[in-house]
Amino acid sequence: MKAEIISVGTEILMGNIVNTNAAYISAGLAGLGISCYYQSVVGDNDKRLVEVFNEAAKRADIVILSGGLGPTEDDLTKETVARAMDKELVLDDKAWKQIQKFFEKRNLKLTDNNKKQAYVPKGAKVMYNKNGTAPGIIMESDTVTAILLPGPPGELIPMWDDQVTPYLREKSGDVFFSETVKICGSGESFVETDLKDLIDAQSNPTIATYAKTGEVHVRVTARAESEKDARKLVKPIVKEIKKRFGSKIFTTDDSVTLEASVMQLLNENRLTLSTAESLTGGMTTGRLINVPGASDVIKMGFITYSNKSKRKYLGVKRSTLEKYGAVSEQCAKEMVKGCAAAAKSDVAISLTGIAGPDGGTDEKPVGLTYIGVSVLGSIKVKKFLFSGEREKIRESAVAAALTLLRQCLLENLTERTFADKQ
Ligand code: ATP
Ligand code: MG
Repeated sequence: MKAEIISVGTEILMGNIVNTNAAYISAGLAGLGISCYYQSVVGDNDKRLVEVFNEAAKRADIVILSGGLGPTEDDLTKETVARAMDKELVLDDKAWKQIQKFFEKRNLKLTDNNKKQAYVPKGAKVMYNKNGTAPGIIMESDTVTAILLPGPPGELIPMWDDQVTPYLREKSGDVFFSETVKICGSGESFVETDLKDLIDAQSNPTIATYAKTGEVHVRVTARAESEKDARKLVKPIVKEIKKRFGSKIFTTDDSVTLEASVMQLLNENRLTLSTAESLTGGMTTGRLINVPGASDVIKMGFITYSNKSKRKYLGVKRSTLEKYGAVSEQCAKEMVKGCAAAAKSDVAISLTGIAGPDGGTDEKPVGLTYIGVSVLGSIKVKKFLFSGEREKIRESAVAAALTLLRQCLLENLTERTFADKQ
């Protein structure tokens, strides 16, 4: 089955808005295993819309249009596509009642134009809109199905998720099953290179990589007649990916985050944690505390932004700061040591770096960061050079800290340390 996307709106052509709807729909189609070979953007002009629609209808089984379902003159998608598909527009009572209610609730005055939104092509499937007034529409003919969606993403996304996706899933007749392998400590291009042979060889299941700051998610999706069959197709591929990435994989559960996997390791081994953050100002601690049950693990967090506070609360030596500077391996080491001692925690992490935009030198450029981890007294410090804007550098530092913490825990958590804690 092939689909095409047409985004309607002069403001997209003019560069006034970014076409996020097409991106969302495309990703949704890929997840459903429906091919999409073309996307078009057309202005609010009926002649050009008919041309684009007819072209798309020749190539695809399904044409998905977004935008132009509103009440104003320039909103002409429904009327134009209905005409192209030779469908008459009739008033849909339920849609009309919903529109009236929508206005009543908000104490707004209805105009004749609003009634236009309640007209739908005869025989069409109407998708009622919980977040706005324009209903979405699915129009079928012998050769093509047109799916019309409202332009505002706040209306389009829930309609796509709740109504279009189940419709398309049923229409394609197949069942999909996917599993996501989440990897930390490897960039997307490395992951892709390491999986290239698998990616190139597969069409079912498909393998797609998604990059997040400090993480790469590999989604394996199979299509089959039953979920059981689809699972069978996914299983060997996931097994192979696990073999290739080993301990860099922190979960295959879609709902588990990197911070949750770190917290689980700490929790399972009954280890407490404290943090000392400079450039990240509490962001690492914040991510960890997002995980339910954090109070069993996290003892305390220091935001030691100034040199003075690094000395006062973490015991970093004045001579260290003078000789090596705050952004140095030595400082990160003393920070993490002092942090574990002050908080009396089993495990500690420290971050010190230059987030920019100012403060960089040739010797110590913006992005230079040292991260320290102490696990039961065993300390490791790693140097990083992150790129991007201030916010990106800080987010990268947090992800790297979580990754390094996880790695150090895995390295240090032998049976002996576990037994020691019993
Ligand atoms: P409305 O009832 O708001 O007029 P509509 O279905 O007629 O909805 P448009 O008029 O085309 O949709 O767009 C309304 C708004 O929705 C735009 O101003 C824009 O903010 C957003 N929008 C429209 N198309 C897209 C798109 N392709 N990607 C992201 N946002 C979009
Ligand atoms: Mg509009």
